[in-house]
Amino acid sequence: MSSTTFDEKAHKKKKKTATMRPMGFGAASDAKFLQDQLFLLNIPLAAAHYMRKLVNFAGSSNVRSQGGLALPAELWHMILDEMEEEAERKPQFCFAKAAIAPSLSSPTETILRCVRHEFDLRVPGKPDRIRVLAGNLQNPASIADFEYFLENATPEEAAKINEASDKVRARLEDEDEDKPIHESIAKIPKLNKLSGLGNVFYILQAQDAPQGKKSGLYYNVEVPDVIARIDRGRCWVCSGRFIGCISGRCAGSAKEMFGFDREHIGCGSSLVCPLCVGMELSDDHLDSLHWEEHSGKRDEKMERRIKARLSELGYN
Ligand SMILES: [Zn+2]
Ligand SMILES: [Zn+2]
Repeated sequence: MSSTTFDEKAHKKKKKTATMRPMGFGAASDAKFLQDQLFLLNIPLAAAHYMRKLVNFAGSSNVRSQGGLALPAELWHMILDEMEEEAERKPQFCFAKAAIAPSLSSPTETILRCVRHEFDLRVPGKPDRIRVLAGNLQNPASIADFEYFLENATPEEAAKINEASDKVRARLEDEDEDKPIHESIAKIPKLNKLSGLGNVFYILQAQDAPQGKKSGLYYNVEVPDVIARIDRGRCWVCSGRFIGCISGRCAGSAKEMFGFDREHIGCGSSLVCPLCVGMELSDDHLDSLHWEEHSGKRDEKMERRIKARLSELGYN
């Protein structure tokens, strides 16, 4: 079902807004839907929505505790409102793949069956440590490979990306020079499909569903989303979403890998991080810093854009 192939990714158009988008309840057609795509799922939000569907469908007197206790419908809805608000305030994300199935109860409804997936990020011999997934991507080419995988998450694509990266690494080891690497050296960890209670979620989609309500499923997932929601903000490039001193005088491997080592810009300026905040914004911010240096003015529009982006990613 996938519509892009491995070779097409080099020609993929640069996307303008770089953030994941919430999927509503108005049938899955509102998203580009690929069979092997990885979504992010806000687990408590999806759980609260599903519970509400059960209460509405079965009737509150038929949803009982193990001891046989039933709650009045009004109380149920108060509790579920509270759960939904809490889930928006403190989301807990996991990766999921989703498949559309027809609903048996209504012809205008479909069911999105979401199955939790998890990358194996364990560190051999260190049970209390978890590796960083996207926050450790080394350069723009590696970011492109990782984002390609998010839309085509199969073992075959992972193997292709990993093999190509291994070749680059092997060739670099043969070369003596300590040059910055601009080819992809992304390594895709093993992706496991989980099953059982707490790992499979159902989202009921109806054609007449109210607009703008979030189902808990997010598509168009990109590297900054993964760093914010899965890696808990851990990023090798920056300290706190900005990198300081991007001038060539104060080089560092992150600056070299992202091609900032030839910039001529004052020592004090800090640039918004290309890896965990996003490359488009980082590029624009760089232009803005040059403009500020030459004009002696402040770019307040850029400051607002950065603030909005950080809050969109959940950094406040
Ligand atoms: Zn400096
Ligand atoms: Zn960063």
